[in-house]
Amino acid sequence: MTYLLNSASDFSHEAVLGFAAANSQYVTAVHGGVVRSTQTPAGQPALVIGGGSGHYPAFAGWVGPGMGHGAPCGNIFSSPSASQVYSVARNAENGGGVLMGFGNYAGDVLHFGAAAEKLRAEGIDVRIIRVSDDIASNSRKNHRDRRGIAGDLPVFKIAGAAIEAGADLDEAERIAWKANDATRSFGLAFDGCTLPGAEEPLFHVPESTMGVGLGIHGEPGIRDLPMGTASEVADLLFEGILEEVPQDRSGRVAVVLNGLGRVKYEELFVVYGRIAERLAEAGLTAVQPEVGEFVTSLDMAGLSLTVVFLDEELEGHWVAAADTPAYRRGELRDLPSMQDRAPRTDFYTPGEENVPEATTESQTTAASVQEVIELFAQVCAENEGELGRLDAVAGDGDHGQGMVLGSRGAVEAGRAALERGAGARTVLLHAGTAWAESAGGTSGALWGSALTAAGGALSDETKADPEAALQALLRAVEAVRRLGGAQPGDKTMVDAAAPFAAHLKQQSQAGQDLPSALSAAAAVATEAAAETAELKARLGRSRVLGDKSLGTPDPGATSFALLMEALADHLKKARG
Ligand code: ADP
Ligand code: MG
Repeated sequence: MTYLLNSASDFSHEAVLGFAAANSQYVTAVHGGVVRSTQTPAGQPALVIGGGSGHYPAFAGWVGPGMGHGAPCGNIFSSPSASQVYSVARNAENGGGVLMGFGNYAGDVLHFGAAAEKLRAEGIDVRIIRVSDDIASNSRKNHRDRRGIAGDLPVFKIAGAAIEAGADLDEAERIAWKANDATRSFGLAFDGCTLPGAEEPLFHVPESTMGVGLGIHGEPGIRDLPMGTASEVADLLFEGILEEVPQDRSGRVAVVLNGLGRVKYEELFVVYGRIAERLAEAGLTAVQPEVGEFVTSLDMAGLSLTVVFLDEELEGHWVAAADTPAYRRGELRDLPSMQDRAPRTDFYTPGEENVPEATTESQTTAASVQEVIELFAQVCAENEGELGRLDAVAGDGDHGQGMVLGSRGAVEAGRAALERGAGARTVLLHAGTAWAESAGGTSGALWGSALTAAGGALSDETKADPEAALQALLRAVEAVRRLGGAQPGDKTMVDAAAPFAAHLKQQSQAGQDLPSALSAAAAVATEAAAETAELKARLGRSRVLGDKSLGTPDPGATSFALLMEALADHLKKARG
């Protein structure tokens, strides 16, 4: 448990400030997390790694030459918000684009993804790597859908070294995925952890047992076994991973034995002694193994074993130099010396959002865009009760409220931007950010990114013609699909949005004008939304209650169709 704190709600933030104060030669605290306090080469991709707090040294402890460029720091065990990620990434970016890395968890996927959409709409190239090393969380063939645990260390280490060695964004992304695909972890816990200031642990592991495969936030494991000796624990972890040794192995492996917070280093060494024997028996050579605390879970009692099956390229980056507050290795002379690390003085602080200069033509389009956002808010308000009722059947009942809060936030931000002379692109960027932040929830993040991505298709210079408007609509749907990752049939907004976009595109290509094409596509969306009643939910919060949703249409698909019908009517009227 936590003995020292000032206030539970300020704990994570105060820890970040103190961490930065103690490591000012490496990092500076900015809004949302930390970035390097020293200058980085222009054009070098920025590795932005993060997640919730409570896992130190992951992730802020790994910011420095040879590894990360910045780390957004969320609250304890919860993803940083999109605006935190955005702020840290904006600060870390230096002309080479951004590689975002985080453990594969729903909240992180959504918030990092939303920040990426915003950066992309602003013209910054962003790639995303989701670490998915935990073999207990999904099958081998679904490796990239597994959740991320201590594999974060080698994957980010390798990606950071590749960047330090001169990799561009494409190359850094390729190597990061390659490292992730070669990484396997398996863990267990003996006792749960306690949030700062809480009286009781988040969860318990039954006395004298070990929760095998239990997640770092207490997600259920695969089985409970009686407590074992150090060697039995080592065997269990090792054998779990041994099942996934690839055919074409080089025989050389990076190994990380990771304590989760309450296991002593001496205990870890006792366990490692046995693991070293097992590695030798299996003909595997450990390359610069790491034993210690890397990805912790507050004071959780438990440990994990990570193995990376190396080839020459991965090994080179694994052993390369890194110099960060919590992770140092290799020949430091391969990195810029302390004297050569010029302090950085200029940082981005979110305040009033920037409004770039716009032409009168684009301002006229912006005013039309604002009318549409106001229309959306009106439709959401009129349907709040019904959307909430649909969401209550198998979800948490907040969809109507989320849509109202989100669209209202967008209206206010759009109006404020218009008053400051914004063009069409900027109005949508501001409105999208505000929608996500005002709504909270999954659909809020998706709608926020939809507006932002639509903005990316317009400009602050020219009047939007029907072709640009069409592209804005298509990009909005693409952003929803990219960010949410849902497939048709999963019973989400995508079940209405995907056929909508396909029909819109097809009708436009067939020579229909935008209002007519949109009308036809909106009708397709409405029909598709109604048909979701026959689907079982597989994604989102309601997936646990999948069967219960049978017979009720998906709330997000329904609201999407309502808004597209309203937009189509609006355009028809405008055409006269
Ligand atoms: P929350 O699920 O956070 O409570 P809402 O209730 O506002 O958010 O929205 C629920 C809707 O979000 C669902 O009905 C579904 O249409 C949509 N949704 C959830 N997850 C996804 C996803 N991964 N992709 C697309 N849409 C999704
Ligand atoms: Mg909901």
